[in-house]
Amino acid sequence: MESTRTSSRDLIRLENEYGAHNYHPLDVVVHRAQGVWVWDVDGNRYLDFLAAYSAVNQGHAHPRIRKAMIEQSERVTLTSRAFRNDQLGPLYEQVSKLTGYRRMLPMNSGAEAVETAVKAARKWGYKVKGVAEGRAEILVFSGNFHGRTTTIVSFSDDAQYREGFGPFTPGFRILPYGNLDAARAAMGPDVVAILVEPIQGESGIVVPPAGFLKGLERLCREHRALLMVDEIQSGLGRTGRLFAFEHEGVRPDVVIIGKALGGGFYPVSAILADDEVMSVFHPGDHGSTFGGNPLAAAVAREALAVLVEEKLAENSDRLGAYFLERLRAIRSRHIREVRGKGLWIGLELRPEAGGARRFCEALMKKGLLCKETHVNTIRFAPPLVITREELDWALERVEAVFREIE
Ligand SMILES: *Cc1c(COP(=O)(O)O)cnc(C)c1O
Repeated sequence: MESTRTSSRDLIRLENEYGAHNYHPLDVVVHRAQGVWVWDVDGNRYLDFLAAYSAVNQGHAHPRIRKAMIEQSERVTLTSRAFRNDQLGPLYEQVSKLTGYRRMLPMNSGAEAVETAVKAARKWGYKVKGVAEGRAEILVFSGNFHGRTTTIVSFSDDAQYREGFGPFTPGFRILPYGNLDAARAAMGPDVVAILVEPIQGESGIVVPPAGFLKGLERLCREHRALLMVDEIQSGLGRTGRLFAFEHEGVRPDVVIIGKALGGGFYPVSAILADDEVMSVFHPGDHGSTFGGNPLAAAVAREALAVLVEEKLAENSDRLGAYFLERLRAIRSRHIREVRGKGLWIGLELRPEAGGARRFCEALMKKGLLCKETHVNTIRFAPPLVITREELDWALERVEAVFREIE
């Protein structure tokens, strides 16, 4: 099979030679995927334990979503919002009935939805709360990840995300994640919103202390600010609930979704809110050529239907608890902590373990695709359609790697 092996090498060479080097992927060249499995160009099979950062919660190439996509693509794919289309209204209604939020504003990438939330909060601050023009402040947290636009990296505290990309957008204040006292001290008349991830994904599945979101909600109520929750990665079933904020029984003012909303087929994102916030937008204030297009809407409708009808959040809840318990039972001097909710688990290695990358590479050789996040954490986040048997298959490989790397 020398010829196909060359082809994998050649494809990697093409990427390296002609592409921007803004990623450091594992050297597996995926050719085909179905459910929780992917195959490389040489025909090797792997279990996908990253699920495109939760964008394929429904599994790769889900037959129902694919069918919806094909059928819609045969009718109409793009109208721009200059005209109406017959998919958008039904999507709005479906999302509202599912989530309890009155309105939805669709975009494409997650970062655009975060930008939309930032704009909504500022305009709400000026028009509804009565903050003086140009003074609005949004509180965010250390270790946050909300995307890569220049405004969003303005409030990142990850040096690499910012280095060389200034000048930055003002109006944000970074507080220690999980620290309610710091948030209380930072509240003031110009604070229009708190923007928070219920669990920080990119930071390494960092779970804040119990009561943190609830406390933020209370602060927002007391000081008339919006609680805006970024559920782009934590939402849509990942943590064992439709939204991760449900674990704390809060009701945010703005919910930001993306990733699995497109079922792995198409980028679809949105913010959800009630009238008080959403009514700050008037025709021409904000928009996107592709946002809410009929193909996106048809795909999102089916992606959500699959999530609900196949009970993927329930599966994540049940199998996640089992998986966490089994991972915590692994005895290895390299493991510092195993944490997470549902099928969203971070395994943090000790600093002396030599980094998560070599563990991910060892797992890949055994047929399990994981990706390190930052230096020392392995993130386990398989598609939520995974079965107990497939999870056991993965566990055997994880256990074997920790036996072999002594
Ligand atoms: C992925 C992600 C984003 C950005 O989404 P893109 O589609 O990559 O722009 C924002 N917030 C969180 C929490 C994410 O995980």
